[in-house]
Amino acid sequence: MLFLLFSQEEKTMSEKTNDFSKWYIDTIQKADLMDYTPVRGCIAFKPDGYELWEHIKEEMDKRFKETGHRNAYFPMLIPESFFQKEKDHIEGFSPELPWVTEAAGEKLEERLALRPTSETMIGHLYSSWIKSYRDLPVLINQWANVFRWEKKTLPFIRTSEFLWQEGHTAHVDEEDARKETMQMLTIYKEVVEGLLAIPVYEGQKTPLERFAGAIDTYSIEAMMKDGKAVQAGTSHYLGTKFAEAFEIKYLNKENKHEYVHTTSWGTSTRLIGSVIMVHGDEQGLVLPPRIAPTQVVLIPVGPWKKNPAIIEKLDGIFAALKAEGIRVRLDDSDQSPGFKFNEWELKGVPVRIELGPRDLDNNQVLMKARDEAEKVSVSIETVVESIKQELATMQTRLFEKAKAFREEHSHTHIDNMDQLEQHLKDSEHNGTIPGWVLAGWCGENSCEESVKEKTKFTTRNIPFNVPVPKQTCLHCGEKATHTVWFARAY
Ligand SMILES: [Zn+2]
Repeated sequence: MLFLLFSQEEKTMSEKTNDFSKWYIDTIQKADLMDYTPVRGCIAFKPDGYELWEHIKEEMDKRFKETGHRNAYFPMLIPESFFQKEKDHIEGFSPELPWVTEAAGEKLEERLALRPTSETMIGHLYSSWIKSYRDLPVLINQWANVFRWEKKTLPFIRTSEFLWQEGHTAHVDEEDARKETMQMLTIYKEVVEGLLAIPVYEGQKTPLERFAGAIDTYSIEAMMKDGKAVQAGTSHYLGTKFAEAFEIKYLNKENKHEYVHTTSWGTSTRLIGSVIMVHGDEQGLVLPPRIAPTQVVLIPVGPWKKNPAIIEKLDGIFAALKAEGIRVRLDDSDQSPGFKFNEWELKGVPVRIELGPRDLDNNQVLMKARDEAEKVSVSIETVVESIKQELATMQTRLFEKAKAFREEHSHTHIDNMDQLEQHLKDSEHNGTIPGWVLAGWCGENSCEESVKEKTKFTTRNIPFNVPVPKQTCLHCGEKATHTVWFARAY
């Protein structure tokens, strides 16, 4: 299949967008990551898809625990009255909530929502768990499924049920809670960049894009290969809003009651979709070595069945790699080598090793990295070392490639709506992706809404490190109070 987004050929934007969605669905199906189910918007994670989540989970969980957090579990069903307690929260989530209204053949006295997030249930419980300053901080994380009924769905990126982690912490004061909010955002950035090889911009959300009920929301934002953004993780400072709604008070050292300051933070299985959309190529999936379910595949080639020394050698390499903790598979099935190469490429396996009779005579193997065109020959004596090195190099290479792509499609020269509209026309005409635009913003919701209405560009975040500070608002031309990333987003 010709996938034009990855080529220099020209095509209109709408055709390209369709190509990209089609490529994405093809890629995840050929890689056998998921399947659809009869429940609309709810997917099954197949083992290779689920294992990606397991590796993300392991790394995140390790970082959470290193910073003093512990895991707990809360119920999936939340009473309707809990949502009424925090006004912004119910307004933000009510359109997306699925409800349980009946059980054991009887109508329930109070409807129960399938959780979209657990602030309310946790707020209710923390009000009895927290008594004194000695109980603080409370640093809890939950790994769970959540529900947000979506009209338009895309596997891993937007589904009605998804997997995530949600951290919920309570602190004595604003300073401590804000420190926590930033700490978790930094952990997200480090894991997404280090493990998933996806570069992100960290920054603050505008009030319109804030989490329902938060004082401040911070995010990390990633650019996909079609130029659209994915919000890859968020961390919220909730102030005392949930504490006031749920009466979460503690006795301070002066024996006076005070409200706690809370935070919440989350990342989800959207990260899997992001990995696919950031690293994939026209052959399909490309996985960063650190999360690949299979990091290395060993394939015998030539008339290997007549030459048992080939499989013996591969068995030896297999055992040596396994001993090093590398996730390796030996494909000694009856399929032709060409078929196997293709199949493992579709699965995005980072490194392939080929061994045939001639290689054996030369005491070498052929090694191919998934994202490189050429095979290289490697001595059998040092093959384990060469593979380890290639896995590390590829991890960095993928990050650098994604970063170069992002820089290429980040536009910092657009300062008003005429220029933005011209840029969109040019992109369409030239068959290029519009990417992201860094622009000034006056702080008015109306300007942000109008940009969105006219161009479908939404504010992604106000980056902490502004590459080029802007003086005037993209929309109204008044003095800019912030410099913001604008982009179309998933
Ligand atoms: Zn404005």
